[in-house]
Amino acid sequence: MSEPETIIVTPDLDEQGKLDTLAYHVRGILTTLGLDLNDPNLAETDRRVAKMYTEMFHGLQEGAEPTITTFPNEECYGHMVMEKDIPFYSMCAHHLVPFYGHAHIAYIPNERILGLSKFARILEFYAKRPQLQERLTEQVVTFLVDKLEPKGAMVVIEARHLCVEMRGVKKPGALTVTSALRGIFHQKPVREEFLDLLRRS
Ligand SMILES: [Zn+2]
Repeated sequence: MSEPETIIVTPDLDEQGKLDTLAYHVRGILTTLGLDLNDPNLAETDRRVAKMYTEMFHGLQEGAEPTITTFPNEECYGHMVMEKDIPFYSMCAHHLVPFYGHAHIAYIPNERILGLSKFARILEFYAKRPQLQERLTEQVVTFLVDKLEPKGAMVVIEARHLCVEMRGVKKPGALTVTSALRGIFHQKPVREEFLDLLRRS
């Protein structure tokens, strides 16, 4: 299990206050680096980055958690439901540069099923924050299990990390793969079915 995430809420800042504070700190970074903020290309950078960060870290905002409507499993569908190759973009919590790739999410329902578009919404919610790939994988599977109480669930994420690719001698294009599973996916035949569905194009 990955470490729980600590989020310190700053309730005293409204939306504009947050943008101003972010912009202030971005200016601090730029001037510390010795850059001239009168350069026309840098003049508005503080505001642009502040706005971009509130977008990229949208998952931290109050009320960002997706409302998940589940439906009764009237057909008593008992097999695997998989949504694969869901693209996502996130930011590495260690370096604040992007990591991005695809997630493959599956579950086997019990009493409740999930609208198919919701997989991407759940992934997005947890991706839009400073994040670790391991934690993202766990958070998505935990969310599914909490909301659906399925027979089991599994998430595989394949991602490229720019903090790895842009620095040092690491291989560009290397994929980091993480997986998390619950319930019936602990059984090997179920995992094999997941991998089989994954391989099919
Ligand atoms: Zn990193």
